[in-house]
This record gives sequence, C-alpha cells and structure tokens, in this order.
Amino acid sequence: MAARQLMGGKAPFLSSATRREALFAKPGTTNPRLCRRSVCSGSHSLKLVNHSCLTCQPGADRVIDYENNAVNLPQHFRGPPTSGNGGVATGLYACLGAHFLETNVAQLQVKLHQPVPLSTDLDFDEEQVDNETVSVTVGINGETVLSGWASSRIKEPVMSEDTALELQRHVALSEEQKNRFDSYEEVFGPSKDHFAECFVCGPESRLGLRLRLRQITDQIFWQTWNPGRRWEDQGALASLPAIAALDCTSALGFYVNGFLGEHESCLLGTYDAAVTSLPLFDSEEGFRVISKTRERVGRKIYTDVGLFGATGEVHVLGKATWIVVSPEVAKG
Ligand SMILES: [Zn+2]
Ligand SMILES: [Zn+2]
Repeated sequence: MAARQLMGGKAPFLSSATRREALFAKPGTTNPRLCRRSVCSGSHSLKLVNHSCLTCQPGADRVIDYENNAVNLPQHFRGPPTSGNGGVATGLYACLGAHFLETNVAQLQVKLHQPVPLSTDLDFDEEQVDNETVSVTVGINGETVLSGWASSRIKEPVMSEDTALELQRHVALSEEQKNRFDSYEEVFGPSKDHFAECFVCGPESRLGLRLRLRQITDQIFWQTWNPGRRWEDQGALASLPAIAALDCTSALGFYVNGFLGEHESCLLGTYDAAVTSLPLFDSEEGFRVISKTRERVGRKIYTDVGLFGATGEVHVLGKATWIVVSPEVAKG
C-alpha cells in the first residue's frame, strides 16, 4: 500500500529530485513497485512466485508454451501482414525473463534478426548469464529469429536522464499542445496499408491496441491509452502489451518530421526497455505514451519512448532502433 501511495495515480506531481530518483534508481536498490506477486528479500533480488500472465497462460493471447519450449505468435499479434509485431516479440522477453530468473524483469534488450513467423512454433534456448540475467535465443530450423536478454536489475539507463525527464514533463498538455494534438493530420508512408492491422498501431486491428501518437510539439508525439481490462494481469497492465505499446508508436512521426523519405519504410531492429514501475490499473486517467526521435544515422533511426501514468509515474522507458528498408522489405 505504501508503494501505491508513493507513485499511485492520485499522487501529486513528483518533485524533480524524486523523479530523478525514481527514474534512475541505482543498481542494487529496492524498487517497492517490483514486489507485486513477489517475496521481497529486501535487496533487489525478488523471488517471483510462479510467473504466469495472460500471454503465458493457455488462451487466445498466449505466446509462450513452456511445456513444449515454444514461442508462437497468434495472428492478431501481427505487425506487417505475415509476420509478428516487433514490440510483441520484445515484450515476450519480459515473460521469458521472469520465468527463468524467477523475478520480475527490470530491463531487457532484444534484437530482431528476421521477420517473426505467425502461428508457427519457434524454439527457444535460454542461458543464465549471471544471477540476475538470462539470455534467450528464439529460432526456427537452426536460424535465429530473436536474440536478447532480460535482467532483474536495471543495468544501464536506456536513455539520457534529460530525455526521460523531457518525456515525463509532457504527461499533461498545455492548451497549445492540446490544440496541436486536436488538429494534427497524419502524414502516411508507403507502408500504411500493410500495417493497417498491426497489433499496436493498426487502425483496423480488431484485437489490437490501435495506438496512434500525434504531434504535440515539434519533436514530441503523444497519446493517451486506456488499455481496458483485457490486458489486466492481477491489477496491473500485463508486461507484453505494456512493452509492445512502445514499438511502432515511436515511429509514427518519421514522415512528418522527415526522418523517412516518402519511398522509405522501416523495421524494428533492436529494442531496449527498462521497467521502472508496474503500470497499475488504479486510475481512470489511463496511461500516456510519449515519444521523441533522437536521430537518424545512415539507415538507423533511434527513438526514445516512454509509458507513463497520467500524473507522471514512469512505468516503462524504451529505446527503439529502427532500420530503414524499402516498403517491399517492410512487408515482412
Ligand atoms: Zn508472462
Ligand atoms: Zn504498428
């Protein structure tokens, strides 16, 4: 309960110093928000009592079958027409990590090596790197599809402190920003139709999140998000949709801001995420997804993106690295 009061939805805006503390807790310190479903040992090592969530349990949204050592993305978790959404692929590392580490996952990093086939069993192999880190490779027929790691400790910040605070500062909009949000007109790229049913951003995705960020300043893109009880996992937002929500949402401003040319598309290359606090369903206000593109270097575009509570709680911070490809390649 104390943790809830500390960072809950009704809390006043946190002071700058407190926000810095919450954002960049030193490795080895205890984050009380990580104690849900866990037996807190008082240090940062938290024993999870049987990680199980809606994307791990049998059902329409299951992506991991531990008995058969298989990852399998159902059709509604698509990005392009025939392959999985990169954010979903990344989010499943939070489940894999929690399962193998027996703790909640504080940080993860995933690299997408090739399009993730849908409705297909993929194998996974895990290797314990140290007491708090597990690396997992997902593949098919000996070829790597995903590689990466999950850790029960925040190893290094995924973005600069200034950037994180800048994103956080925009959880509430000024009048001018509201007007900009309301009058925003999207600039679409050549892959618009291919991603119409993308789980995260597709306007026509029946079971999807349908998250379309809009511009609120020259650089910052923003959207509110009420995920609905479908994605609730014991009072909190399940980790897979929480992480997936920061995927293609971070790329929606690429055309309007000139990071992509009109004949270019992009695919997620790597994704780093830090889970700073659990997104609890304790506020009618829902969440905020806020992104800012860092830079394009050659064929790579780096974007910072965060999931926040309505009053500024930092839930997930992500850094997406996008690879510029042709629209043909982006189709998956
Ligand atoms: Zn899970
Ligand atoms: Zn998308």
